[in-house]
Amino acid sequence: MKAQVLEAPAPVDTKPLRLVDRDPPEPARGEVRLHVRVCACCRTDLHVVTGELDLPHLPVVPGHQVVGTVEALGDGCTRLHAGERVGVCWLHWADGVCQYCRAGSENLCEHGLFTGWTADGGYAEAITVPEDFAIALPEQLDDIAVSPLLCAGAVGYRALRRAEIEPGERVALLGFGSSAHLVMQLLRHWGCDVFVLTRGEGHRALARELGAAWVGRADELPPETCDRAVVFAPAGELVPVALRAIRPGGTVSLAGIHMSTIPPMDYGLLWRERSLRSVANVTRRDAEEFVALAVEANIRAEYETYPLDAANDALAAIAADAVQGTAILQIA
Ligand SMILES: [Zn+2]
Ligand SMILES: [Zn+2]
Repeated sequence: MKAQVLEAPAPVDTKPLRLVDRDPPEPARGEVRLHVRVCACCRTDLHVVTGELDLPHLPVVPGHQVVGTVEALGDGCTRLHAGERVGVCWLHWADGVCQYCRAGSENLCEHGLFTGWTADGGYAEAITVPEDFAIALPEQLDDIAVSPLLCAGAVGYRALRRAEIEPGERVALLGFGSSAHLVMQLLRHWGCDVFVLTRGEGHRALARELGAAWVGRADELPPETCDRAVVFAPAGELVPVALRAIRPGGTVSLAGIHMSTIPPMDYGLLWRERSLRSVANVTRRDAEEFVALAVEANIRAEYETYPLDAANDALAAIAADAVQGTAILQIA
């Protein structure tokens, strides 16, 4: 099978992924092998290939928004059958027994494995995944429509929940890439007024098209005080901007797995019971709930497709903020 492999992290413009031909992985007990159809790219893939994240598993195949069909079953599989279409998301496996798993927070599992980071991902023609961690997909959504929902959508949805957004509230979104343009459609479905701050003109146009109440530059403040804010851009300097945008008692959640240093800021920005929260990973429930909500709210992903050979180009386009919506590798 063909796979895009990272052997050593390097700047994205040096094309760090190498296309190789290798034997497809054998599914272990309880695992299935999928024939990968599409894999949507995520900004986290960029943080992997450039080494902004530690890389405990090298070489690694990136990619964690995978849609494929089951082509081989390991011993002991009972849930899935050959030919079934499923998704693979960032959470590849959790132990189910640690204090976090037992409390329903498998995203924080002490021994969790993550697709395309500590386990091989979907920039390849095949992938293995524990069958219990394969995500069921609704037939209403085709491969391309559903793939960006598996991380961009699911993490964004978790970020909305962490921000405790209620229907009808005023919400600021800082950064407007793959994740933000998906959850914005859910916010509109919930009757929220959405204020978008983003640096790219293309992103601003897309935000307007999707019904933003106001669109501004990354360092501008919305004309009205917001109840909640979600920071999608991996830029620490936006944290004080987000806090300035919300009311007392409001909440800011930070959706990224990686963020540049947050500058020193005045305590007054946080005082009056404003909350600042991070978001780590996703649970299977986040992915499954968001996929179902996407059908209900008729959420459409904007996307650009790339062939598997062009994975480096897709990542370079994400780095340059040049992708409208999501870059998707079309593999089969
Ligand atoms: Zn655990
Ligand atoms: Zn992701």
